[in-house]
Parts: sequence; structure tokens; C-alpha cells
Amino acid sequence: MFTLPDLPFSKNSMPNFCSANTFNFHHDKHHAGYVNKLNDAINGTELADQTLGEIIQSSHQTGNTGVFNNSAQHFNHSFFWDSILPFGGNDPSGKLQELIQRDFGSVDDFRTEFTKISTTLFGSGWIWLIQNQEGKLEILPMPNAGTPLTEGKSPLLTLDVWEHAYYLDFQNLRAKYVEEYWNVVNWEHANSLLK
Ligand code: MN
Repeated sequence: MFTLPDLPFSKNSMPNFCSANTFNFHHDKHHAGYVNKLNDAINGTELADQTLGEIIQSSHQTGNTGVFNNSAQHFNHSFFWDSILPFGGNDPSGKLQELIQRDFGSVDDFRTEFTKISTTLFGSGWIWLIQNQEGKLEILPMPNAGTPLTEGKSPLLTLDVWEHAYYLDFQNLRAKYVEEYWNVVNWEHANSLLK
């Protein structure tokens, strides 16, 4: 059985990106809902003994959409909370900075490309910065509950672009929400995940 992780920051610590009201819904209602539905679906089945990663992979392969959506959304949201932090932003440092410069030209070029992809993904989904099996960084837009785990790619950063992530604070203005993401992005977490 899975449990809802606590947010690794206080709900009123990044009001320009996400208000406490939005965290109340996004974490306490939406993320909690995915965890509860996942537990209901796996309780008493052979999936109950598997890790979250194993459940995501196996439900994706067998086309078990209900289990896939809820397990992937649990993973994605947990990863998202680690991708943001109060007073984040600025520029990445160390190896992450080097790899971003190598693979995107510059940090500004990376931000521009990620922003463009985030604002143009149609409907609900996730924008990921991933490291592929050759070690190269890529931006990966994935609709709905899409997660790079099913493609054998290592996630480094993510941005939730479902409307429930920003509608209370920004209404339909996804671009403003993405703009504020750059002030809270947790580069150090991404850096720690590099291979
Ligand atoms: Mn969400």
C-alpha cells in the first residue's frame, strides 16, 4: 500500500507560483486521490507486493489503464514536489549546467525551449527534463499521466501542466505559471540525479 508523501515545503512558501489554496487541492485532494485509487485497485492482487516502478511498468505493458494512470500520477506528483522549492530558480551549477550547455546551447536556450513546449502541449500532461540511456539530456512532453519510466529514461525535472496545477491562481494563463516555475525550480535535486 502506498502513502501520500508530505510536501517537502510549507504550502505558503511559494505564493507566486502556487498558492496555499492550490496546494490544498493539488496535494491534499488530487495527489491523495491518485494514491487512494491506486491502493483500492491493487489491494488483494499480485500487484500489492510490487514497487511503484514495477506497477507502472507492468500496467503500462498490459494496458491496465486504471492502474497505470493512478500509479504514474502518484510517481509524477511525488517527483514534481521534489522539482520545486521556495527560493529555487537562478541558474543550475556543476555538472547539470555543463550538460545543459552541451545539449541545449545555454541555460537560457534550455529555458526558452522548455517554456515553449510547456505552453504548447495540448490538454493535460507533464513536461520532463530527462537523461537518456546515452547520457544526453532531452525535453520530453508527455500527455495525461505520461512518465519517462516507461521509456527507460531517467527523470531530472518535471512540470505539471494539468489545469488543476494552475487554474485557481492563473486561470487559463499557463504561460504565466510556467514563467513562475523558473523562480522555484529545484536544480540541485536534478543535479543529484545525473548519471
Ligand atoms: Mn497535478
